Amino acid sequence: MDSVLVWQQDIWHKLMRNRAFRCHAVLLKGRKGIGKFTFARLMAKSLLCLSPDADNAACGKCTSCNWFEQHTHPNFRMLSPEALSAALNSQMDSTDDPKHEGDEQQQAATGKMKKKPGQQIGIDQIRGLNELVYLSGHQSSYKIVLIYPAETMNAAAANALLKKLEEPPEGTLFILVSHQSERLLPTIRSRCQQIAMPIPDTETANQWLMQKMQQQSGFQNVDKVSMLLALSGFSPLSALSLIDKIPQHQRFMEEIGSLQRFDPLALAETLQNQDLAVTIDWLQKWCYDMVSFHATGKVRYHPHLAVQIQAVCRQSNQQACVAYLHFLNTRQPLSRHPVNARLFLEEIFINYGKLLASATSSYPSLPVF
Ligand SMILES: [Zn+2]
Repeated sequence: MDSVLVWQQDIWHKLMRNRAFRCHAVLLKGRKGIGKFTFARLMAKSLLCLSPDADNAACGKCTSCNWFEQHTHPNFRMLSPEALSAALNSQMDSTDDPKHEGDEQQQAATGKMKKKPGQQIGIDQIRGLNELVYLSGHQSSYKIVLIYPAETMNAAAANALLKKLEEPPEGTLFILVSHQSERLLPTIRSRCQQIAMPIPDTETANQWLMQKMQQQSGFQNVDKVSMLLALSGFSPLSALSLIDKIPQHQRFMEEIGSLQRFDPLALAETLQNQDLAVTIDWLQKWCYDMVSFHATGKVRYHPHLAVQIQAVCRQSNQQACVAYLHFLNTRQPLSRHPVNARLFLEEIFINYGKLLASATSSYPSLPVF
């Protein structure tokens, strides 16, 4: 299992020193990709451990630690959207299960696709906690509920959780992890001990990612590490998850970086089976850099492609870039459940094509809602 990340050491010692919390709930908040989830699991494992060490790290050997690693601890529950749970379990076990992809292809071939997994935490998941939190748990340790990401609770689930936080069950600690804590009910936030999770400085993030790259692939590449960090908005764990996607990302950049070769319909066809949220995220970052370059002459996410950004900026006008970025922001939430992936992308890319001609032609007003 992972250990506490180097930039989280101080907050770990402060928070875990007394192994007691001000509230019955802790909210770990901060941007995506800085290790909040890892930290939350380490907290839970340590609090349940029968023999933690002097730094409050779980021993890794006791019955409790074994149960925790096997996902069978009777005093621990993790709530996540269904769509995320399988990926998280696979990640925590550090084993990829290639069967999933094959299963999907087989189901598509036979026309028997399963219902799409849910993107929200629902009320049934909160109700399912009753047995854990209201009946006596195993031994006398904490009962811990980890909710990740907490902002994916739907309204009914959030209200059901609020009721539990208003009359907190004895001996239970809720650990909420959130990338967008402003989306949580204020009444939930106010009942939590809120922890702003630290962000590593650039040098620390560079060193960490370099080490991970060495472990994964056996080599280090300074330029690639810098590129991945910039692309992830300097969130090292997000950067690490991008390593496998570098070739696809490079091809995508080549397509959208040239007015001459940009073909919206062909690109929509090519990318219709890729995770749409990822495609929109890449395009959002690219367009953010176009807006930034128009305004300040600087780019944030693609310093290695500044020349290409400059070129597309010459072909577009600033107001059109701002309007298009706003349009993309409204499309990101829809990317999780589009009616038709190809049509969804065609609309986005056709409008991007118009953006690339907006320096010399009028740019249409886009539907935003
Ligand atoms: Zn232990």
